[in-house]
Amino acid sequence: RKCLSLIQKTKFLNAYITVSEEVALKQAEESEERYKKGQSLGDLDGIPVAVKDNFSTSGIETTCASNMLKGYIPPFNATVVQKLLDQGALLMGKTNLDEFAMGSGSTDGVFGPVKNPWSYSKQRREKRQQQAQGESQAAEWLITGGSSGGSAAALAALTCSAALGSDTGGSTRNPAAHCGLVGFKPSYGLVSRHGLIPLVNSMDVPGILTRCVDDTAIVLGVLAGHDPKDSTTVQDPVKPFTLPSLTDVSKLCIGIPKEYAVPELSSEVRSLWSKAAGLFESAGAKVIEVSLPHTSCSIVCYHVLCASEVASNMARFDGLEYGHRCDINVSTEAMYAATRREGFSDVVRGRILSGNFFLLKENYENYFIKAQKVRRLIANDFVNVFNSGVDILLTPTTLSEAVPYLEFIKEDNRTRSAQGDIFTQAVNMAGLPAVSMPAALSHQGLPIGLQFIGRAFCDQKLLTVAKWFE
Ligand code: GLN
Repeated sequence: RKCLSLIQKTKFLNAYITVSEEVALKQAEESEERYKKGQSLGDLDGIPVAVKDNFSTSGIETTCASNMLKGYIPPFNATVVQKLLDQGALLMGKTNLDEFAMGSGSTDGVFGPVKNPWSYSKQRREKRQQQAQGESQAAEWLITGGSSGGSAAALAALTCSAALGSDTGGSTRNPAAHCGLVGFKPSYGLVSRHGLIPLVNSMDVPGILTRCVDDTAIVLGVLAGHDPKDSTTVQDPVKPFTLPSLTDVSKLCIGIPKEYAVPELSSEVRSLWSKAAGLFESAGAKVIEVSLPHTSCSIVCYHVLCASEVASNMARFDGLEYGHRCDINVSTEAMYAATRREGFSDVVRGRILSGNFFLLKENYENYFIKAQKVRRLIANDFVNVFNSGVDILLTPTTLSEAVPYLEFIKEDNRTRSAQGDIFTQAVNMAGLPAVSMPAALSHQGLPIGLQFIGRAFCDQKLLTVAKWFE
């Protein structure tokens, strides 16, 4: 009830698209009943969680923040949602995002942008009061980052204790960094994507947002494992993910990729990054500079592959089976065209168009196949570094702290994603686990995140190191 009332009080953040109040209250009652009767409890019994609105939820509207899916009520739960519920979690609602998770700000969905709760922190409020009255800064609020900004804002505003995001190129880690949270992207294949409405099938993973690393490990323990409904999940039995307390990091080798020191990186993030490296060094770890030579190709490569997969998998939205359908019925083709014109934003249509261009017979070799080859080179860069003895890579998560909305929207969606995702996208192309950790507050009093990247399927080790850092 406390969480539900906080959801009402923080409505202006626009974190939730749907609040599933009745469901949550019923689940809470059942949970209380189990507790009172002394029945065995699930790992998440009575824990309020929020779920990004691109995961299917049985009987609860699932929109992807798109006109295309407004009003769509799935008949089934995504595997991860079902697993949360099976362990007693309370579903508070569905959170806001960029349309179909295409973006890095949570500013580009049909329900409007999400506001960063840190815009209203005490320090910022006081600062604003000191500034001249009526100055435009008073209205200035910050973006959450994205595309899982609704989940991040919901968690940062204390309306839940954990939230699901999705991560295709950084969408869980980026808002975690901007909202002072732990944002975890598991290894590709560790957690089922069944029921996660796809952006880029070969890169998407469900992401976990929490306030501390131990919470991430608990949720990961619930979610991880083979799913017959997702053939890309691994068969290996899943170990429990409870984290040992790491007291000695002296045997670790931490790699600092030199290509990540890009000129656009803010000086504050840069100095925090070296401070964190120094922390490991003074605890006895070996900290070395490493090279990921294909980093500069990663943004372009991601965008060719992303658009190509988008063009292919968005074909399902044809107005026939589910989702929006236009009124035009002169011909099937006209119906398809008008439905998709009305249902999708410019951003989504732009990606479909460019994807179809890359996939044309005459372009396929030069764009799609070439991008796949580059993707392999990018993935191999990581493999080489880990094979040379590096345990964990330490990098920034974002170029800077959260920026004001008005500044962010000056550039269009494509440019924004391209610049802002430089530290996160390559990880998805390589299928590696990565976590963004809150590292410090900036001079403006805003959170800054740093990212740890691990070897594929060494998720537990990665989180153990993150816990030490915490
Ligand atoms: N910003 C990237 C994009 O727009 C990544 C989004 C994501 O991880 N869902 O494609």
